[in-house]
Amino acid sequence: MSKKVPNRILLTEDQIPKQWYNVRADMKEQPDPYINPGTMKPAVAEDFYPIFAEELCRQEFTMERYVDIPEEVLEYYKLYRPSPVIRAYNLERLLDTPAKIYYKYEGSNTSGSHKLNSAVPQVYYNKKQGIARITTETGAGQWGTALSMACAYFDMPLRIYMVKVSYEQKPYRKEVMHTYGADVFPSPSDTTNIGRAILAKDPGNTGSLGTAISEAVEMAVSTPNTRYSLGSVLNQVLLHQSIIGMEAKTQLEMVDEYPDYVIGCSGGGSNLGGLMSAFMQDKLTGKANAHFIAVEPSACPSFTRGVYAYDFCDVGHITPLAKMYTLGSSFIPTSIHAGGLRYHGMSPILSKLYHDGILDEARAVGQKDVFDAAVLFAKHESILPAPESAHAIKAAIDVALECKERGEAKTILFGLTGNGYFDLAAYASYNSGSMENYAPTDEDIEKGISEIIKVPGL
Ligand SMILES: *Cc1c(COP(=O)(O)O)cnc(C)c1O
Repeated sequence: MSKKVPNRILLTEDQIPKQWYNVRADMKEQPDPYINPGTMKPAVAEDFYPIFAEELCRQEFTMERYVDIPEEVLEYYKLYRPSPVIRAYNLERLLDTPAKIYYKYEGSNTSGSHKLNSAVPQVYYNKKQGIARITTETGAGQWGTALSMACAYFDMPLRIYMVKVSYEQKPYRKEVMHTYGADVFPSPSDTTNIGRAILAKDPGNTGSLGTAISEAVEMAVSTPNTRYSLGSVLNQVLLHQSIIGMEAKTQLEMVDEYPDYVIGCSGGGSNLGGLMSAFMQDKLTGKANAHFIAVEPSACPSFTRGVYAYDFCDVGHITPLAKMYTLGSSFIPTSIHAGGLRYHGMSPILSKLYHDGILDEARAVGQKDVFDAAVLFAKHESILPAPESAHAIKAAIDVALECKERGEAKTILFGLTGNGYFDLAAYASYNSGSMENYAPTDEDIEKGISEIIKVPGL
C-alpha cells in the first residue's frame, strides 16, 4: 500500500543547507563573459568593485562548486526558512490528472517573496567590508522590501529608486520600506544626472526599471563608500537562490520523489535558477534528467521572442554588457501586472543553458490566462499567489493536463515565489473583467532588438 504523502513536507532548522551551490562549476560550457563597457574587453571581478561589495564580485566569477553560507546569514535564514514543499492534492483532483503536483512556497516571509534569500547575504557582505550605504532600484516593490528588511537587520542605510508609477500607485509597498528604515525616491528623480536629464526632456516621465537601475548605479559609483545591489539576473543572485532547490530536493527525497518537470516563472531568472539548481546539477552530471520549463509573460517574452546577444543591463548603458536572451535594453514592456517579470534581459547562466538545450523549454503565457490560474489556485489551494508566481501555476496546470491526455503519472515541481497581498490592484483589474491577454507586435519586438548595440568581434 502506498503511503500518503503529507500535504506539507517540512524540514527542520538544522536541515537548512550550510552552503550554496554554484551551477557554473558543473557547466561544461560557460556563459560568455561580461564585457566592460569602458574597454569593450571581457570584465574581471575587479571591474565590478566600484559597483558591488568585493566578496559579491568574487562570487560573480567564482568556479567553486560550493560556497559556505556565513553564520550571520544562516541566523537570519532561520527566521523564515526552511520553506515548505506542498503537495497540491486539491488541484490534482480538480484537474483529474494522474500527475503529482508539488510546489515550493517562498512567500511566507514579510517581504512576500524569495528575494530575501539574496538580500540578506548581499547586505551582510557589504556590511563586512565596511560599506556605509547601499542603493538599489525597485519596480513592483518586492526587491526593495526584501533589501529594506535585510538592511534594517544589519543596520545599513539604504536608498531605493522606485519606478515612479509604482511609487504613486503602490503607497503601501513604499510604506513597508519606510517602516524598515529605507529612503525611497520616485525615479526618475532630481538626485542623479540621468534622472535630471530625463526630467528635463520629459517632466511627466513615469519611469521604468531600466531608468531606476541607472539612477541607483550612478548614485553608488559617484558617492564614497556606497555600493549598489541587484535582486536578480546576476550569477551571485542565482548562487544565493540555490538554497531553494537544495531544500526542495531533500524534501522530495523524504517522500521518495524526484521531479520529472521543474517549472518556474522567469523575470531575470533568479527563482528558476535557484529552484533548478540541485536538479540541474544531477542533469549536468548525468544522474537524472528532469525537464525544465521557464515561464514568461507574453508581454515581455525574452526567451521566446528575444535574441541571444550581448546587451546592456540598463537603459542608461552604464552597466557591463552580458550575453543573454534580450528584447533590447530600450524595450519598454507594457505595464502588465506581474511587475517582477518586466525585465528586457535574462540571467546569463539560464540564457546559456537554454541556448544549449539543457534548460529544455520556455513558454510565454498571457496575463488573463495567468490570473485564471491564480484564482483557481487560490480557491483550491488557499494561497493567494503573486502574479509572477501565477505564471508558474499556469504552466504547471497545463503540464498536468498534458500528462492527463497521455495517461502519465509524472511528478511536477513548480516554484511558488510569492504571495499576492500587495498585488490587489491587479486582482481588482482581473475581477472587474477588464484584464486581457497581451503580446507585443512583431514590429515592437524588432524595434527593441534592432537597437541592441553591436559589439565588434563578438
Ligand atoms: C521578482 C520576482 C520574480 C521574478 O524574478 P526572478 O529573478 O526571475 O525570480 C518572481 N516572483 C516574485 C514573487 C518576485 O518578486
